[in-house]
Amino acid sequence: MKKSTCFLAACCILLASCNTDKKKVENPFFSEYKTPHQVPPFDKIKPVHYLPAFKEGIKEQKEAIEKIVKNSEKPTFANTIEALERSSNLLDKVSYVFDNVKGANTNDELDKIEKQILPLISSHSDDIKLNMALFSRIKSIYDQEKDLNLSTEQKMVLKKYYNSFVRGGANLPKDKKDKLRVINKDLSELYSSFRNNVIGDNNKFKLVIDNKADLKGLPESVIANGAATAKEAGLDGKWMYTLDKPSFIPFMTYSAKRELRKKLYLGYTNKGNNNDKFDNKKIISKIISLRTEKAQLLGFKCFADYVLDNNMAKNTKNVYKLCNRIWDIALPAAKKEVKELQKIINKEGDKITLKAWDWWYYAGKLKKAKYNLDEEMLRPYFKLENVRDGAFYLANKLYGIKFKQVYNLPLYHKDCQTFEVSEANGDFIGVLYMDFFPRKSKTVGAWMTSYRKQSNLDKYVHPIISVVTNFSKPTGDKPALLSFSEVETLFHEFGHSLHGLLSKCKYNRVSGTAVARDFVELPSQVMENWCSEPEMLNVYAKHYKTGKAMPKELIAKLNKASHFNVGFKTVEFMAAALIDLEYHTTTSTKPINVLEFEKNFSKKIGLIDEITYRYRSTYFKHIFGSEGYATGYYAYTWAEVLDADAFNAFKETGDIFNKEVANKFRKFVISRGGSDDAMKLYIQFRGKEPNPDALLKRKGLLK
Ligand SMILES: [Zn+2]
Repeated sequence: MKKSTCFLAACCILLASCNTDKKKVENPFFSEYKTPHQVPPFDKIKPVHYLPAFKEGIKEQKEAIEKIVKNSEKPTFANTIEALERSSNLLDKVSYVFDNVKGANTNDELDKIEKQILPLISSHSDDIKLNMALFSRIKSIYDQEKDLNLSTEQKMVLKKYYNSFVRGGANLPKDKKDKLRVINKDLSELYSSFRNNVIGDNNKFKLVIDNKADLKGLPESVIANGAATAKEAGLDGKWMYTLDKPSFIPFMTYSAKRELRKKLYLGYTNKGNNNDKFDNKKIISKIISLRTEKAQLLGFKCFADYVLDNNMAKNTKNVYKLCNRIWDIALPAAKKEVKELQKIINKEGDKITLKAWDWWYYAGKLKKAKYNLDEEMLRPYFKLENVRDGAFYLANKLYGIKFKQVYNLPLYHKDCQTFEVSEANGDFIGVLYMDFFPRKSKTVGAWMTSYRKQSNLDKYVHPIISVVTNFSKPTGDKPALLSFSEVETLFHEFGHSLHGLLSKCKYNRVSGTAVARDFVELPSQVMENWCSEPEMLNVYAKHYKTGKAMPKELIAKLNKASHFNVGFKTVEFMAAALIDLEYHTTTSTKPINVLEFEKNFSKKIGLIDEITYRYRSTYFKHIFGSEGYATGYYAYTWAEVLDADAFNAFKETGDIFNKEVANKFRKFVISRGGSDDAMKLYIQFRGKEPNPDALLKRKGLLK
């Protein structure tokens, strides 16, 4: 998952403040950061600094735009577009820090500040998008683009600005513009409430065990985690399990207590659906209705059409073509898995019919029986630091780049680690923050984000990138030992961070991860391909106690089992992608009953009772927590087609570290951001369009 940045993100040339106002002097956002590499001075930034900085940032951008509009010279790329790129320096500077700290280490004070800031930003963003004098300058440049001798990147930047205005309502008559402004403001508040409700409900739920017999089936590490979590909650001597994935998945996989699995499962799948103050059902109905209204105001039939117009997939037809092909192959595979699991249940003598809360438990048993492989057998080989260094090793093998841990940078939380990143020849690239462990103040999930984006408009700006995850913590005398899925997540987010770090663009607007939603997961997902390759495992998968490499037999088992449970995984994922499309292809603005909508849709696609959506609607933050991934959950699969095909480019050479292919990937994909059309970039790298069969074969769904 990647977090989105704010509207009109422009370059971050740091401002030298000449203001003598005392309050301004004390506010770190108003002067150049005096830290190494000019990273944010987290030790000096206090909550009280945010609101004044946001207000000043908005004021500065308003003044800059006023100047652009009043310029008596005829509009040019330099005096309009480049001037716009510079207009949000301060606003970007404070937005990046606030948004990121809010996601990774929030508190009541920041929650309150966010409520004050959101309407300001939303209304400011509308003021820009609906500024007709500004739009007419941009339009006049856009209309004569062919005669301007612009570079490919400049053309893309211009197109992005132009489209953002048109998509923001610039071509609408006044009454419709006003309407759109109200819709955007309402939506941004609904997104914030949705997100806060998911966090609230997530934190509210606790499965507390005070009877040792109820720990039946749990391995030692899962029991230790439960004890540590309970202790942290002031329940020393008991065991506690939560809805966070590192707690949820192991419990569901190992607990022999069916009623407890059911309790945890129902807690998880009913987040935001408990008819209390954290309930999200009415919010979803309002979001869908407003989004449909917005799309229709802008001349689209439905919200999906509005979103896809901007993506690599272009339209719903292309998206459905891919999703339906995969669904039609995955659903029968999942049904076969149900039968296999029921067989195991019968063999064990458990007189039950498989239910959704039994899936992980019996899948674990089946995996053990089939491959003699248990997730816990792998964990000792995945010490967090070793996996992290494995990802660094891979980046070094492919691109020659180096990572050096440094301890002199200010942190927003003591758990953060910081790295200086440099080229093979020692040239400085940027800074990477890594923040691995869950805590109450952190949003669930994993993501990459920027504190400063790469650009090169007036001078070269080095990127400051951050990776935030919620991985298994160290317990007792044991270091943090990851599950294999967490290993994949680490490589994934690290891939996003390379997209940000290795960006070589001139304009902030298109640099790094500022690409089409269904292209952005390519640089991240492609990295996951390496983690299970024996050549990579030999490097990073070392036993945390003995330092010995993972035995060959275990590697063989891991790879043999890689297609295990693929029906389940694909179905829970595709069901979520498909319901995202269903919500956003609706053309009616009437309120919906979310539970009925979900139920009817499950029936329509033939989803089986034993599997539910990877995210049920009431906690589907990707699509309802912001506009980011709305009609965009399919994008992971779209990008999987790209990444499976891209990894084949390495495999075809017989060398998964092939430098020539890596250099091409860096040159045409990673470094280019959104400076050219995504398919064009891909074809420059690969020489042809991607083939979806590579993905189906990798999943084992196609022979
Ligand atoms: Zn991602």
